Amino acid sequence: MKKIGFIGLGIMGKPMSKNLLKAGYPLLVYDIVPAAVEEVAGAGAEKGTSAKDVAAKTDVIITMLPNSPHVQEVVLGKDGIIQTARPGAIVIDMSSISPLVSREIGAKLAEKGIRMLDAPVSGGEPKAIDGTLSIMVGGSKADFDEFLPLMKTMGASVVLCGEIGAGNVTKLANQIVVAANIAAVSEALVLAAKAGVNPDLVYQAIRGGLAGSTVMDAKAPMMLDRNFKPGFRINLHIKDLNNVLDTARGIDVATPLTDELMAMMQSLKEEFGDADHSALVRYYERIAGIELHR
Ligand code: NAD
Repeated sequence: MKKIGFIGLGIMGKPMSKNLLKAGYPLLVYDIVPAAVEEVAGAGAEKGTSAKDVAAKTDVIITMLPNSPHVQEVVLGKDGIIQTARPGAIVIDMSSISPLVSREIGAKLAEKGIRMLDAPVSGGEPKAIDGTLSIMVGGSKADFDEFLPLMKTMGASVVLCGEIGAGNVTKLANQIVVAANIAAVSEALVLAAKAGVNPDLVYQAIRGGLAGSTVMDAKAPMMLDRNFKPGFRINLHIKDLNNVLDTARGIDVATPLTDELMAMMQSLKEEFGDADHSALVRYYERIAGIELHR
């Protein structure tokens, strides 16, 4: 099998790269944090020294970085992929970034004959570990078909949503729905607790009905157990909501729910920015003057 480059070995990149190793792909990995590189090297990957180094030695380069500026630097920067990648190579950017930036990067790569897919994911760390992420892809059908088997080693569902940028537009839609769901679960459980009803029993009673959701099953137990270990950090969700607001402004679309969710998350940033986004419940708890417990 062809050697794959993998850049960005954080909460998501580590398990995703390990799944590629398990599937038998030889890997060359890089992260600015040496300990992250050591950990994945311990699972069998070769160590790269920069993004440029990875691109010089592989023709399929996956990136899993925090946000648009990181991907711009890693792909287009002076030590970036574009400096050494060969025509025909492909960058599969699995980070959640602005769709407008995906399109800009795709266009710059195309000038050098380098291909790109934007392929952000949903499902969080547990599904990254299981290899069952949902992957939403933008790019050409031919590139999608060629790299579908590779993406399938990390995801259970892999859907081509349109041209470059369509993956990240789809991810923004996903992030609105997730944030709104977490807020609704928080609002409901805090109301129930303040009204004197055990919030765990409320959760058990409603989870199988129309109100139930994947978000409720993932996040209500965390709220009740006071377990806010990320998972998905509030700071990263703020980043995604910023990308929603930027994109919406650019195309003149109103996002009243996202505006409200952003204000809630911003109010928690200082104290809980590195906590899981289920810590959104703290916003409601502060106002109600209570804490959820089982
Ligand atoms: P993370 O911060 O844990 O990992 C990012 C990694 O990128 C870090 O190891 C960091 O050192 C590395 N990095 C940053 N700049 C770099 C550079 N210039 N060169 C090389 N490496 C660099 O973030 P994460 O939780 O793994 O998320 C990655 C992306 O996936 C984000 O866009 C996030 O929104 C998205 N995402 C995360 C989750 C989740 O649950 N954590 C779920 C779905 C999507």
